[in-house]
Amino acid sequence: MSVVPLLQDLVSIRSTNPMGREFSGHDYTEAAMADYVDAYLRKLGADIERQEVKPDRPNVIGRFEFHADAPWLMYEAHMDTVLVEGMTIDPFDPVIKDGLMYGRGSCDTKASMASMLVAISRLVENADRPRLNLMFLAAMDEEFQFSGISHAVQNGVTADFAVCGEPTELNLVIAHKGAARWRIRTGGLSTHSSKCDDGINALYRMAKVLNAIEKYHATKMRPRKGHPLVGGPTVSVGRIEGGQTVNTVPDWACIELDRRTLPEETAEDARAEIIDYLANHPDIDFEVKHDEGFNMFGGMEISPDCTLVQAARSACESVTGSTEILGVPYGADAGKMVAAGIPTIVFGPGNILQAHSADEFVEVAQVETAVHIHEAIAHHLAERI
Ligand SMILES: [Zn+2]
Repeated sequence: MSVVPLLQDLVSIRSTNPMGREFSGHDYTEAAMADYVDAYLRKLGADIERQEVKPDRPNVIGRFEFHADAPWLMYEAHMDTVLVEGMTIDPFDPVIKDGLMYGRGSCDTKASMASMLVAISRLVENADRPRLNLMFLAAMDEEFQFSGISHAVQNGVTADFAVCGEPTELNLVIAHKGAARWRIRTGGLSTHSSKCDDGINALYRMAKVLNAIEKYHATKMRPRKGHPLVGGPTVSVGRIEGGQTVNTVPDWACIELDRRTLPEETAEDARAEIIDYLANHPDIDFEVKHDEGFNMFGGMEISPDCTLVQAARSACESVTGSTEILGVPYGADAGKMVAAGIPTIVFGPGNILQAHSADEFVEVAQVETAVHIHEAIAHHLAERI
């Protein structure tokens, strides 16, 4: 099967991540995608492992062991997509127009998955295949909590090298940021607003927290020397809520913070530093909320000189004549893979600007080129090890 009809199949299969909201039912799981990938890999002769990470939400792993002593190359792509609310196109109808294929997941990241699966089929069916063992990991829940890849690496899935499929416009991404997200709450004492001097206003308390965080960003984040590939660290307050009615002194307010971390920082340390900073202001009274479903994820970085990056660079150059080695600000499953000791590059067709967008699309020619590059990565890697 060639890559275009394969990608059309994948786009038409619903695998919407409920993103922690109240959606339920088969369309809000990766089950149908998992069955499709399972059948595809099984037909090629893979040993299949399914990991039930959450009910009806599995990871699928297909292994092709050709040599007991050869290194393992893993191709990894997530099966889930973000929600389809607000889309201006039919999310599950993979229309092709002017060289672009539309649909939810067409770019992020079913294009990567389709190109990897076709590359694997060519490698497996080639009698003159590179001296490597091959693995494909289709991961659930990348878009919300990274629980698929976390489960996989905690349960024995490993490899000597990996390619994590995300839209990089066929460039090689060797570093990305991480993020810490959490809530801070202020309390108060409610009274009638006409007697406000008898109350304690939680919003006024929160105003002090907000001013301190703005100052923290200006004095502690902005001056820090950024990472050469991903730039500097940031903290931003994204949401605020609180209060009861216009004539009541509010006794609660809550904000949501997003701190983007550098590859060398941990999300936990970054969060703790801000909490300590606030705690050192005697006039600020706040509580940290730890109980929410926000995800913390680390950044990642691998050396541009390592065998995998060099092989991938040669592979790109042999197919397209050029590539760029980049860092990106967004997170990916690669963060967990590198943390688990698997050297990983992020690579794939499509532009991150179209990921999650209202008219998500991917350039079909890039998807076709990606097949050749994925195949070439295995060949160039085998030559270097
Ligand atoms: Zn993605």
